[in-house]
Amino acid sequence: MSKIALITGASKGIGAAIALQLAEDGYDIWLNYRSDDEGAEKTAAAIREAGRECTPLKFDVTDEEAVENALAPLLQEEVPYIVVNNAGFARDSIMMMMSSDDWNKVLQVHLTGFFNVTKPVVSRMLRKRTGRIINIASTSGETGVAGQTNYSAAKAGLIGATRSLAVEVAKRNILVNAVTPGFIETDMVAELPVDQIKGQIPLKRLGTPQEVAGVVSFLCSDKASYITGQTIAVNGGIHT
Ligand code: NAP
Repeated sequence: MSKIALITGASKGIGAAIALQLAEDGYDIWLNYRSDDEGAEKTAAAIREAGRECTPLKFDVTDEEAVENALAPLLQEEVPYIVVNNAGFARDSIMMMMSSDDWNKVLQVHLTGFFNVTKPVVSRMLRKRTGRIINIASTSGETGVAGQTNYSAAKAGLIGATRSLAVEVAKRNILVNAVTPGFIETDMVAELPVDQIKGQIPLKRLGTPQEVAGVVSFLCSDKASYITGQTIAVNGGIHT
């Protein structure tokens, strides 16, 4: 089994915490990001500090050709044991005000991005007969959130894709699961009314990226060897 984990959107936030946690678990990291060179270098330095190798991979997950160009040479040499599809963003507005661009971009980053990155890796995992795929979805994919029809559709779609892919690849010992964070302290929530939101969360606080990373670490471990096709919530009780 290779000790490599590919994580998309790992220059900051939840992806960076997952990359660091998996490095601490003993994996070398293929670190994808789109634009934040400084954030990616900081995360890479922390991974190297933890004693693991880091290969930064700057590409947009929605660009099939860019994904292929970045991954194909690496995949000829090695196949990651873990893929974490984490890259993403929201473009919130009520449906009546939503542009088709905001609809399309959000679906593309979460769904097409998942497809573009997972397909070339899973085809090689199938030959190795081992692997773990973790998709970072959201509470918004499980329950209604006003202002997020695009994001909810994308994340609910990702949960559906998780279930179907899990059934497809189970006989080759590849496990596929989704993690659904609630409100997590990252740039993504920086502009939200955090104090008001905290009041609605049963645990009365936002989650940390490390709390999401801990669940991903578990799902990638031997302890989770009989879990596949599942959606694990990390949401402080905001959706039960
Ligand atoms: P974040 O801090 O804004 O980080 C997003 C990461 O995704 C960055 O590394 C960014 O890269 C990367 N990214 C965005 N678009 C990309 C693209 N097209 N191609 C490659 N990389 C791309 O956000 P976060 O809060 O950590 O969110 C991470 C994931 O968790 C997302 O899928 C998000 O939907 C999900 N999530 C977050 C929360 C939350 O409360 N924070 C809750 C539920 C789910 P650059 O910065 O380098 O461009």
